Amino acid sequence: MIKTAPDAYQDIRDAVRALCAEFPDEYHRKIDEQRAYPEAFVDALTKAGWLAALIPAEYGGSGLGLTEASVIMEEINRSGGNSGACHGQMYNMGTLLRHGSTAQKELYLPKIASGEWRLQSMGVTEPSTGTDTTKIKTTAVKKGDRYVINGQKVWISRVQHSDWMILLARTTPLAEVRKKSEGMSIFMVDLRQAEKTGMTVRPIPNMVNHETNELFFENLEIPEANLIGQEGQGFKYILDGLNAERTLIAAECIGDGYWFLDRVTKYVSERVVFGRAIGHNQGVQFPIAEAYIEVEAANLMRYKACALFDAGQHCGGEANMAKYLAAKASWEAANACIQFHGGFGFANEYDVERKFRETRLYQVAPISTNLILSYVAEHLLGLPRSF
Ligand SMILES: Cc1cc2nc3c(=O)[nH]c(=O)nc-3n(C[C@H](O)[C@H](O)[C@H](O)COP(=O)(O)OP(=O)(O)OC[C@H]3O[C@@H](n4cnc5c(N)ncnc54)[C@H](O)[C@@H]3O)c2cc1C
Repeated sequence: MIKTAPDAYQDIRDAVRALCAEFPDEYHRKIDEQRAYPEAFVDALTKAGWLAALIPAEYGGSGLGLTEASVIMEEINRSGGNSGACHGQMYNMGTLLRHGSTAQKELYLPKIASGEWRLQSMGVTEPSTGTDTTKIKTTAVKKGDRYVINGQKVWISRVQHSDWMILLARTTPLAEVRKKSEGMSIFMVDLRQAEKTGMTVRPIPNMVNHETNELFFENLEIPEANLIGQEGQGFKYILDGLNAERTLIAAECIGDGYWFLDRVTKYVSERVVFGRAIGHNQGVQFPIAEAYIEVEAANLMRYKACALFDAGQHCGGEANMAKYLAAKASWEAANACIQFHGGFGFANEYDVERKFRETRLYQVAPISTNLILSYVAEHLLGLPRSF
């Protein structure tokens, strides 16, 4: 492994690394080739309590901060695994924790902490509205003590490996609200129940082994008790959770970045061409050194975002910038890694092409790079809003 500065989280790193070491490259490679779900890996992480890091101790979690949680995600990705299979379990419950009633928290959080229930899915994106979330067309109409859901979602991840989903739907038509961000609400959806009573799941085959789906709702009825917080405030609740999600995904990208750097530095030190290891050539060294600098810089912003979040301060700028820098840095590291593996970078057995595909996702999801630039321009630089 390349050297990284020691930090205060070495115990967590060592413990997560030890667990991940039981799931070597061959495991993740096979799962990827079969387009299967890493059930044994996710189970082991759950049983060890790592996915319940952010759930307070009173609800059965370990009550750690975002900083520690981010170290867990980083180590999973640095081990060669992919947190994308399970990161939702760590942060989706934040909406419940911050905005759910006491009864809801007591009902859901202990079961999520133990892993008895998975809350791995969050249904926001729709095919006809994309990033323009306030225009979502999925509706939830109150009928007695139930809400009736109609509409469509796209790219909704881990639905087949989750028990519950957090769903964003319009409860008041856009034309009738004062501000376009109002009139949307968040619901807990019992996925297995919903599949029998009005929700159709259509998997989307895609570039990475990421279980993601189109969802179709036709008169799906859910109990009013499944509404989280106040009706009409759901968009605000979703936004509250995004800073944690972005920071954790930044940490995953940093883990990927170090994985690529670990692999490429080892490979170029061993691969002999023209009578010496290719790592002697500055043309080989410099892109690797550049990627290392970028990963290290992204890491600083990740810790800054975590520290602000854990102190209860606003961290929208830092969370977005950490995600931007980390996704870019891991992509630079991925490019250097595949390039200096030559042809072998394309062979499945080296795992580089798999990690290359996995890390590419993070410049598009869960928020695309352009939208982060637009956030920074508007909110940090005070430039005019462009849309
Ligand atoms: C594998 C995968 C898993 C996902 N999982 C989930 C999930 O679990 N839940 C969920 O709700 N969503 C999920 N998503 C959706 C993801 O969040 C969106 O794909 C992402 O936010 C981009 O939205 P879009 O695809 O609709 O792109 P669009 O909004 O159509 O944008 C397309 C491109 O245009 C650019 N663009 C758009 N508007 C502007 C503008 N004003 N200025 C400059 N550029 C602009 C964007 O940057 C982007 O590159 C997932 C997506 C993928 C690929």
